[in-house]
Amino acid sequence: MKIFCVGRNYGEHAKELNNAIPEAPVIFMKPPTAILKGNDFYMPDFSKDMHFECELVFRICKNGKHIAPQFASKYVDGITVGIDFTARDVQAEQKKKGLPWEIAKAFDQSAVVGTMQPLEDMSLLSRASFELKKNGVAVQTGNAGEMLFPVPEVISYLSNYFTLQQGDLLFTGTPAGVGPIAIGDVLEGSLNGNVLFTTHIK
Ligand code: ZN
Repeated sequence: MKIFCVGRNYGEHAKELNNAIPEAPVIFMKPPTAILKGNDFYMPDFSKDMHFECELVFRICKNGKHIAPQFASKYVDGITVGIDFTARDVQAEQKKKGLPWEIAKAFDQSAVVGTMQPLEDMSLLSRASFELKKNGVAVQTGNAGEMLFPVPEVISYLSNYFTLQQGDLLFTGTPAGVGPIAIGDVLEGSLNGNVLFTTHIK
């Protein structure tokens, strides 16, 4: 099982981090060990600037390669919200040196995956809306319709390089509003108004 992630998939977020709007999806991966088990995130000691990035997450339901965008919806059967925890200081250092991001984004417990919902209505691929609250205050809101690269295009693009396998997850990028977390914070992610995860920062 693998976790695909898209970077810079919302224009406003790319701008807030002073990144150019990409011409093709920016892809990175997390290993299965990145998935947070339970509801407590323990601050690792290698970062002084841990950020939340709330994202729509999709579950891949069958194996595929070279998938055309118009058939991509057949390869997803679940939707939820999650967090792509990012050690922003480590990432900035890696970016400066032109090095890969894994130690900033793929570390243990860096992927929060909310309760998976069956994806029966494929129009959600283009209109699901989500929100992240930190300590009860909304800090990020997003809608699938705002993605620079819509989900079917991302799936098609990925499948040119990687065999998609049943059970893989796809994090689709974060909208503007990312920010730091501190011990004691509570993060609550919701999809179309339903809370699908609550994560306590310890
Ligand atoms: Zn992200």
